[in-house]
Parts: sequence; structure tokens; C-alpha cells
Amino acid sequence: NISENRPVIRQLDDAAINRIAAGEVVERPASAVKELVENAIDAGAMRITIDVADGGKTLIRVTDDGCGIAGDDLPLALSRHATSKIDGSDLLNIHTFGFRGEALPSLGAVGRLNITSRVPGAAAFEINVEGGHVGDVRPAALNAGTVITLRDLFYATPARLKFLRTDRAESQAIGDVIKRLAMAEPFVRFELRDVSGDAPRTTFRAEAETGDMFDALHGRLATVLGREFADNSLKIDAEREGLHLTGYAALPTYSRGSAVAQYLFVNGRPVRDKLLVGALRGAYFDFLSRDRHPAAALFLDCDPTLVDVNVHPAKSEVRFRDPGLARGLIVSALRHALADAGHRASTTVAG
Ligand code: ADP
Ligand code: MG
Repeated sequence: NISENRPVIRQLDDAAINRIAAGEVVERPASAVKELVENAIDAGAMRITIDVADGGKTLIRVTDDGCGIAGDDLPLALSRHATSKIDGSDLLNIHTFGFRGEALPSLGAVGRLNITSRVPGAAAFEINVEGGHVGDVRPAALNAGTVITLRDLFYATPARLKFLRTDRAESQAIGDVIKRLAMAEPFVRFELRDVSGDAPRTTFRAEAETGDMFDALHGRLATVLGREFADNSLKIDAEREGLHLTGYAALPTYSRGSAVAQYLFVNGRPVRDKLLVGALRGAYFDFLSRDRHPAAALFLDCDPTLVDVNVHPAKSEVRFRDPGLARGLIVSALRHALADAGHRASTTVAG
């Protein structure tokens, strides 16, 4: 009987929708950390502290001194596609990390989430979400900024929980996320603490840098990548047709046996992009043997309309309107700097 077996089309409820979306946005603890720290940066925070227990599986807590969220807005911040960052009319013109309004509802669907926040001149409030169920807004105690606590990530989705790596591996992935964002924001102070045991342990700390953009970046790279990188890298500063390339690229003598020390940013956003990595390789082609990999932290900046960051929910891929221009700029600017340095070195030796 066909009518009896006919499938019924149902609208999914919000909790189910958020859980499905969370699968894309929150792959592992490090992706939750990324979303929360990016939110803190978007909120104008100057100090961001990240506490993590058991590789982020049992606890992730991000504390910031940013603009805060008003009590009335707390439920809105947790509803899907609600964002204070764009108005939807200009998806091509994005200046913040966030814009999809998906992170908080997704996190609330896959863990136990608490948001406590205070905007200047008002009282502090908090709200809880568990398994997608949003609680009431209640008065809370907090001096300023926002504290977001995510406990028991994936407790409701045991399948996902099972696919997580060891605490150690997840902690390392979190450290990597923090380091990339710390490079992108040298004027902001970052501290990452492991609070698994009885005594909290700081695993990474970067004090706020001062000076101009290059000073600050150089100082931050010394903190994140090490003094040796900072002392053996060349300042890059080039422009072509509205595309700006800045940062530091290591001398060939500082090269590595793997591609671990390649950090690329597009409009301030850490990216992993084949085109850009390929350009970096191409630039060093004449300067490095096949088994060596260049080390660099490079920032491409352009008008947001020239690059699409809306390729994937995690936003680590980008699409350039003119890929050849980006590649050409990287190759020529780095080759120039490397040839220059080589020339300086040989004249110093000769003289
Ligand atoms: P998006 O970042 O794409 O806007 P989110 O779900 O990550 O979406 O956050 C929703 C909204 O909650 C943000 O647009 C912002 O207004 C607010 N928000 C989130 N985190 C913070 C924070 N740490 N400080 C201030 N506001 C925040
Ligand atoms: Mg966000």
C-alpha cells in the first residue's frame, strides 16, 4: 500500500539543525577554541585567556576583555544565523573573523555551554545551553568582558567523541590554533593554560607587542616561532595592484625538513591554501634543495571584495578573484628579498 509507506517530509527542529551544522563547524576541540577566540578578537579584546582540560574534551573556557554581550542579546547570540557583524546586504565586504552566526548555536548543540558577559555600564548576565536547549538569562558576577565555558564537548554525540585523538594530540592542535591567531594579532595578549590537574599550567603565553606593525609582528614571531626564526628572517613588504604582501620569510639556511613552519594569512585570517603554499615553494625553488622547506609568516591583504572567504564553514580556504596575481606577488617579492640577502651576504664575505 503506497500511501501507507509514503515518506513524510518534516521540518527539523532547531536542536537537530544545530547538531547537523555543528558537524561542519566543530570537528574537534581545536575548532571550538578557534571559534571562541575569533569571537573574542572580533569583540576587540586586548587580553584573551584560554583554559583547557583533557585536550579540550571536558573543558574549554575563553575569557576576554572585549565589548561584551548585553543581557537582552544573549538568547539572540545563541540563535542560528544571528550575528552583529554583517547585515547580510554585503557578503562580499567582510572585515571580521565571524559573520555566519553559527558558532555559538553549534557549540550549544554539541556540549554544555555557559556564556557570562557584561557590557560597560550594565550588570553582568549569563545563559546556559545544553544539548541545544537554551535556558533563561540570569544575573551573574563578572567585572567586564565575556567568559564562555564549553564543557563535555560531544557528550551527546558519542560517535564523534570516539573519533577524537589523545588528549595530548588535541592539546597540540589547540596550541597550533592559538599560535596562528597570536601571529595574526600581535597587539593582543594571549595565554593558554592547561587546567587538567590541580595546578593550572601555562602552556603558551604571548605578551601584547608594541611599536609599529612590523615591530609588533617581529616580536610576536620571536615568541611564537622562536628567536632563531626572528633573527634569520627577512622583512617582506610588497604591493601589486591593490594586493599587499607583508611579513617575514626565513633565510634558506633556516629551512626545515618539513613544511611545519609555513604560516599564511589572508586579510588577517589564518589559511591553509594550496595556491599560496605552492607560491612559497616556487619562490624558494632556486634557493633550497628539494628536501628542504621554507619557513615564513606571510600576510596577504586586499580589498575584501577581491577574495572570497565564504568557501567553507571553517573558513580556512579562500578563493582569489585573480589567483595569478597573488602567486606572482609572493614569488617575485620573496625572490627579490632572497636574492638581495644573498647578494649582501656575498659582498660582506668578499669585502
Ligand atoms: P558570528 O561570530 O559569525 O557573528 P557566533 O555564533 O560566533 O557568530 O557569535 C554570535 C554573536 O555573539 C556575535 O555576532 C557577537 O555579537 C556575539 N559574541 C560572541 N562571542 C562574543 C564575545 N566573546 N564578545 C562579545 N560578543 C560576542
Ligand atoms: Mg564567531
